[in-house]
Formats: sequence, structure tokens, C-alpha cells
Amino acid sequence: MLKDRVGIVFGVANKRSIAWNIAQAWHHAGAKLAFTYQGERLRENVEQLSASLGAASPVFSCDVTRDEDIQAVFDQAAAHFGKIHLVLHSVAFAPREALGGRFIETSREAFRIAMDVSAYSLLGIARAAAPLMPEGGSILTLSYYGAEKVVPHYNVMGVAKAALEANVRYLAHDLGPQGVRVNAISAGPVNTLAARGIGDFGDMLKYHAEHAPLKRNVLGKELGDTGVYLASDMSSGVTGEVIYVDCGYNIMGM
Ligand code: NAP
Repeated sequence: MLKDRVGIVFGVANKRSIAWNIAQAWHHAGAKLAFTYQGERLRENVEQLSASLGAASPVFSCDVTRDEDIQAVFDQAAAHFGKIHLVLHSVAFAPREALGGRFIETSREAFRIAMDVSAYSLLGIARAAAPLMPEGGSILTLSYYGAEKVVPHYNVMGVAKAALEANVRYLAHDLGPQGVRVNAISAGPVNTLAARGIGDFGDMLKYHAEHAPLKRNVLGKELGDTGVYLASDMSSGVTGEVIYVDCGYNIMGM
């Protein structure tokens, strides 16, 4: 379904990462991929994972808070592939002290960091990616229900995800005439490195599984499958959307 498509994947930290689930699904659907990592600490991990796909996938360094890093990724992608079709933005961060306790205590600096890394970065990446997408394409990001409703402990990340979802709509409007679609998957909770930074994350997993109509938590494979749908022509009429892949949790009122 993604044969002859080239994708750049931001946000693989390890094999539990949502980005890794989606990247594997894109790979199995036939896409050629490049990966980015933040800092030398993760370089080896990401290189090993990308090598495990059995394809020569380039790996680029990128801290998404740095415009010059983002531009360098797409300059290298242009040199390597010529053009690209897919971008996966699976990146978020907020200082740990802002992911617990009372939201009202969030500092100006924690708010700024959460917004920069988790919301602005999609805009910066889309702006640098668009010139390499002359054949159109699909940009995909990851959100969470805390964008829409209050989820205790999610705090400033909920505000950042609300901004991210608005970014998706504004970018979809700007890039639609070029045939570039922009969508978000709002994933149910998954036990990853980033998730473990959220206070009482174990309780969140348990609560979701108990209250979701499907009575379980979402699987990485299910996020990958929706990632392929949103990257492929199967979703050619879909842009600016937030698609819930959460075992139905978001439809519940009680
Ligand atoms: P993850 O494996 O920890 O991935 C988060 C990624 O963001 C890591 O690769 C991390 O790199 C990267 N990152 C953070 N700051 C960065 C920066 N300045 N520059 C570049 N990369 C940076 O966790 P994940 O759960 O898969 O998260 C992926 C996305 O899914 C996030 O947007 C998250 O909010 C979203 N999401 C997660 C869940 C869940 O329950 N897990 C649910 C819904 C949505 P470092 O490790 O180097 O910081």
C-alpha cells in the first residue's frame, strides 16, 4: 500500500515507542524510511532498530526545538531520497514536575517547553517537509484525549495536545492545495518511556481498560494499522482529522 513512498520518522526512542509501531507498519506496507534521534544517548538504539528492518534506512540527529536541526534533517533527506511522501511526528515532552500535582502550579518555563517540543515542532517539521513533497503526501502526529477533557496528572501536556490538534487543522488547510494531508491519531494509553513520566500512569492504563467499550488497552499494532491507513491512498479524502484509536474510551459519558 505504501510502495514507492518515502517517510521520515521522528520519535523512536526504543521498541516500545508508538513511532516504532507505526514505522514497522509503514515498512511492511512497502515504504522506505529514515529515522531521527535526539542526542547521542539514543543514536545506537535507533540505528539498531532501523537496521532490524533489513533495509538501509538513514538515521539523522534532530532536536525538534532547534530549527537548524529540523532543516538539516530535510536537507539530508533531499540528498538521500530526492523527495518524500510521509512524515511521522511522534514527539512530546514536558518537565516531569509539570506532569503531576495541580495544573495551576505549572511554571511559565514548563508551559513553554511543553508547547515548543510537543506542539510547535509539528509546524516546524511540516514547513521544512512540504517543499520535499511535490507529489503530495501525509503528515501524521500523535495526540491524546487529555487535549479535549481533563485527565488528572496530564496537565500541561493536555494543553499542548489541544494546541497540537489545532495545528493539525491549520496545517491541513495550508497544505491541502499541495495534496499534503495532515492528521492526528489520538491514541489510548500505551506503556512507553514518555508515558512513564506521567504521574500514576499505571492507574490510567487500568482505568482505560476497565472503562473502554472494548475492555482493554490499545495495541501497538492497532496504532500501526491506522498509521498505514492515514499514510495511504485509502484515506485520500481525510485531512485535518483527529482519529481516536483508543478501544472506544472517548465515546463514554459514564
Ligand atoms: P516515547 O517512546 O518516549 O517517544 C517520545 C519521543 O519524543 C522520544 O523519541 C523522545 O526522544 C522524543 N523527544 C522528546 N523531546 C524531543 C526533542 N526535543 N527533539 C526530538 N525528539 C524529542 O513515547 P511515546 O508514548 O511513543 O510518545 C510518542 C507520541 O505519542 C507523543 O507525542 C505522545 O504524547 C503520544 N501519545 C502517547 C500515548 C501513550 O500513552 N504512550 C498516548 C497518546 C499519545 P528522547 O527520549 O530523546 O526525549
